Amino acid sequence: PFDVLVIGGGPAGVSAAIYSARKGLRTGILAERFGGQVLDTLGIENFISVPYTEGPKLAENLKEHAKRYDIDIINLQRAKSIRRKELLEVELEKGAVVKSKTVIIATGARWRNVNVPGEKEFKNKGVAYCPHCDGPLFAGKDVAVIGGGNSGIEAAIDLAGVVKHVTVLEFLPQLKADKVLQERLYRLPNVTVLTNVQTKEFTGKEKLEGITYIRRDTNEEKHIDVQGVFVQIGLVPNTEWLGDSIERNAIGEIVVNHKNETSMPGVFAAGDCTNSPYKQIIISMGSGATAALSAFDYLIRN
Ligand code: FAD
Repeated sequence: PFDVLVIGGGPAGVSAAIYSARKGLRTGILAERFGGQVLDTLGIENFISVPYTEGPKLAENLKEHAKRYDIDIINLQRAKSIRRKELLEVELEKGAVVKSKTVIIATGARWRNVNVPGEKEFKNKGVAYCPHCDGPLFAGKDVAVIGGGNSGIEAAIDLAGVVKHVTVLEFLPQLKADKVLQERLYRLPNVTVLTNVQTKEFTGKEKLEGITYIRRDTNEEKHIDVQGVFVQIGLVPNTEWLGDSIERNAIGEIVVNHKNETSMPGVFAAGDCTNSPYKQIIISMGSGATAALSAFDYLIRN
């Protein structure tokens, strides 16, 4: 059996595995897709001490760093369930069972898509999901935010300080965000809010140039010119496979404490799959390190 089995090969998982291996622990990484979300990212400008890199390059560096240690990489495999017997047992979708004394779950999250024509085509060419990451790329430009919940309105307030103008599009007749956020938003001079509208299409040639939407009260089709759109309709943690085995919050995030311990003894979690308030590469790596050091602490006590 492993001392530490890490599930997930993104920034959190790789950080956890390297920290574990450096403690001399027998370490494995199980990943459906080694690299994680950064594989879908173009420019990265907020990974501190590296002024600019690109997702595929960072994913390559993660792999190279992991390979310097004696870490078993089990790629292209999905975990299906976890249970505690004498050891922890992780069942794979393909049937095998991997045993370990401790497990670190780092299965990340995925942004919910609007699923309209143009979304895929203009991803990283105007269609963005992370205002902390990509906001500055749109300095001085017109952008839209899809989604009037807390994350959408926080994004709109954030972006209004950076870009020229922000248009918020909300499907429902009113915004769902907290009142304080709405009040803050409506005080900003460069924000327009459209409610009761349905996004129909992202348009453009090489890059995104605009959004076509439908007014749901009149069925009228409208168009706005924007160079960027931030889709903010939810970040979904990849934790469905855990069922009731480990405590998750109302939106499915694994509940962890300051040591990244979960509700199951010997099981830790890190990165975007947890209830950490902010989801970023640097934060995921930090929590992966914390989870590994906590697993080490657990192993020397048990
Ligand atoms: P992930 O990167 O999501 O990795 C999860 C891993 O778990 C993957 O290997 C996946 O295959 C695996 N996995 C999932 N389910 C299972 C399972 N059941 N069994 C086995 N393996 C499984 N952050 C920044 O800091 N700066 C940026 O500029 C930036 N830009 C971004 C741009 C885009 C388009 C996106 C989508 C995200 C961006 N982010 C950025 C966010 C950043 O990518 C994430 O915060 C970070 O990747 C989270 O790391 P993670 O290891 O927790 O999860």
